[in-house]
Amino acid sequence: MDQTDFELDVVIPVFNEEDVLPELRKRLTAALDKASTRWRAILVDDGSDDRSREMIQQWGQEDSRIILVELSRNFGHQSAITAGISFASGQAVAVLDADLQDPPELLDEMMAAWRKGAEIVVARRRTRAETGWRRLAFGFFHLFLERFGSLPSSANTGVFGLMDRRVAQHFQRLSERHRFFPGLRDWLGFHRQEVLYDREERAAGTPKQSLRRLISYALDSIFSFSYQPLRMMTCLGLVIALAGFLLAGYFITKRLLGIEIADTGFTTLVTLILVLGGFNLIGLGLVGEYVGRIYDEVKNRPFFIVRATHGFASDEGSVSI
Ligand code: UDP
Ligand code: MG
Repeated sequence: MDQTDFELDVVIPVFNEEDVLPELRKRLTAALDKASTRWRAILVDDGSDDRSREMIQQWGQEDSRIILVELSRNFGHQSAITAGISFASGQAVAVLDADLQDPPELLDEMMAAWRKGAEIVVARRRTRAETGWRRLAFGFFHLFLERFGSLPSSANTGVFGLMDRRVAQHFQRLSERHRFFPGLRDWLGFHRQEVLYDREERAAGTPKQSLRRLISYALDSIFSFSYQPLRMMTCLGLVIALAGFLLAGYFITKRLLGIEIADTGFTTLVTLILVLGGFNLIGLGLVGEYVGRIYDEVKNRPFFIVRATHGFASDEGSVSI
């Protein structure tokens, strides 16, 4: 196939997914071949240390529509996606997790919406099949996002979706390092359409995002999009200061009227010192979250380093941002 002659680029981040790759290959190929679109898949190997890379390379040798972008180490889900999109050049660019929690069969419906004029198509989860603490944590996170997020539409959506080529080009211009893909996609605007789906448990293997990564991802969804935490601290400070002034006024009046002020209150003092000390530290931590992000931006390091690409006509691909 002529490599410039395709319509859809599917970007798939892969980190230690040897258990799921054979199944992915089967379902992705079947779904896209049925979808009557000329497609290409860009699999980004995010520094896997299992056999994922060799498996994708093998797949690419047997199917010229498969491209492998190899990162120099593990940069994380969001960076892997950004890397993949920077190599995409189809009329539409889809993003999909490798673990089959995002069913490739839905791409057909997404392409149909795109053909009808949607510039961004987002898959929204009707239900989700995760269990245990992950289910609880994800549920809480999306509830929180819906209530307090400044981007109302990113709740219950993930990276799974499709963008028009022009949208993807604008996405590449977003140069921030702490990336929360669903939020950035919302921020871009454009005509958007949703398709609903039931999110399955991953097809095989264990989740590859550590709890720490997930927490920092959740924090990015707040701190990269809103000053709300700082404003809340300011409000809290104002309320506490106001209470202080009122109390001072009360004591002064009492003293002026000659009413004796009881000399006790050790418990109250200790409690107040601890509570206010705690608030101070929380405030400092919040400011720190922003300062740390500024520091990361100022260092201006690239989001990812590409060691090699396999499968492009010239084997160099586009430049990274
Ligand atoms: N992934 C990645 N780099 C990482 C962690 C994960 O590219 O450091 C990929 C992983 O292979 C999968 C997708 O990102 O295709 C989502 O990961 P996972 O299913 O573990 O996350 P969750 O479903 O819990 O969000
Ligand atoms: Mg998953």
